[in-house]
Amino acid sequence: MARGAACVLLAGLGVSLVAVAQPAVAPADPRPALLKRAAGETPLAKDLEDLTDHVGGRPTGTPACTRAVAWGLDRFRALKLPRVYTESFTLPVLWLPGTLDVRVTAPESFAVRAASAPASPSTSSPLDARVVDAGEGTEADFLRLGKAAAGAILLVHQKEMKTLDQLFEEYMKSRPLLAAARAVRAVAVLLESTRPRGLLYRHPVDFGALAPLPVAVISRESAERMGRLLQQGEVRAHVAIHSQTGGTNVSENVIGEIPGREKPGEVVLLGAHLDSWDLGTGAEDNGVNVALVLDVARAFMEMGLVPRRTVRFVLFTGEEQGMYGSAGYAERHKAELRDHAAVVVFDLGSGKTSGFQVSGRPELRAAVARAFSGVPGLGEEAAHAVDAFDGTDNFDFLLAGVPTFVADQDGAPYLPDYHAESDVFERVNLPEAKRNAALAAVLVWALAEAPQPPGKHQSRAEVEALLKATKLDQQMRAFGQWEDWASGKRGFPRPP
Ligand SMILES: [Zn+2]
Repeated sequence: MARGAACVLLAGLGVSLVAVAQPAVAPADPRPALLKRAAGETPLAKDLEDLTDHVGGRPTGTPACTRAVAWGLDRFRALKLPRVYTESFTLPVLWLPGTLDVRVTAPESFAVRAASAPASPSTSSPLDARVVDAGEGTEADFLRLGKAAAGAILLVHQKEMKTLDQLFEEYMKSRPLLAAARAVRAVAVLLESTRPRGLLYRHPVDFGALAPLPVAVISRESAERMGRLLQQGEVRAHVAIHSQTGGTNVSENVIGEIPGREKPGEVVLLGAHLDSWDLGTGAEDNGVNVALVLDVARAFMEMGLVPRRTVRFVLFTGEEQGMYGSAGYAERHKAELRDHAAVVVFDLGSGKTSGFQVSGRPELRAAVARAFSGVPGLGEEAAHAVDAFDGTDNFDFLLAGVPTFVADQDGAPYLPDYHAESDVFERVNLPEAKRNAALAAVLVWALAEAPQPPGKHQSRAEVEALLKATKLDQQMRAFGQWEDWASGKRGFPRPP
């Protein structure tokens, strides 16, 4: 957009603009009205309160997740979107939380605050065993332990997590750590919580498979006490974990769409994941962005907006287990992904959005800058990050060469409650969530209305080069996903 037009847009922010649908012709620029609307009274908070307080925590595979899917369908229908439906997909492994009991039994007896880790198998019978201090579970720690680890429960210390990078380190070390624990014939692993003051969280320790031995996260305070007792002599503990585990299982994504006015076959997708972990009620991760997706759909319907391309609003499930909802969508729509002009995903709670990650594709920045021309801080002057990470629902679209845009949000307010008991409604920054909804509406409108798509579809070779350049390949290997890309199970078919 030209500078002159940007001034018109800014001027429009202060006045009451009403956009009226003109399905046959290009409508007037609705972006000022979209921004103004989201800043006023909207039901975003009410939707979030409903989802978190009535449905609550909703791991994929639980009755709560089924209720969340029904809730999402109801919401899309209430908005009278022209098309509303669900699509099923298959997850490779089932893991649902059950009961657990962790206690120190000697030299003193005390209960240990603990949460079973997603992907942890159950203990076949309750364990009563020696505890050994495995330090931070590094290679050197395992060498030092030697035979002492056989038959023992490993206590693994962790530092407090304060940044997204530290969170990724926590994920990246899981599989090698558990493989090493298994190799030394340990019987269970107790991971020290990375959050202080007794806070527990669900830390998935594997994706797409069960872990090789039982794992629980225990409170920092219990872990530190056990560590001090271990310096004085033998410590014994009782560990019983019962989780519901199984093989493949089916879940559903919820979809609502507004068919495009000129290019109904081309799709701009706005997505957020509907599932969550269960200790809290999944407000920041990711109920608030489910409410955001609903609010953007509501804005388009209220204002009668019908852009050039189809806008598809998708609430994915199966995200927490390894982005299986979006992977299932990409698989099901394989033949049409070349017609997906863009995928926009929000998955960092109500953190302030400073731009959009273009995941290793700097040429996509221009489309974002055009979408936000005239919006302070987000237009031409914003440095939309080229970084990429393997951890939300844009990923399988990226693997298929589709241009993706992930909201680059401030992680600081999100991280302390991530997957934790404290991820509840009152943690959400509602004014920021409303601003995020405004930005999502503007970006989705602009991408769906622009004469040209924001960028080309990449080939398999281009995606492969991108994975290496952004080091996404290392994350994929750490999470056990690289084989699926290499074999053509995820992303492009294998080259001949
Ligand atoms: Zn999330």
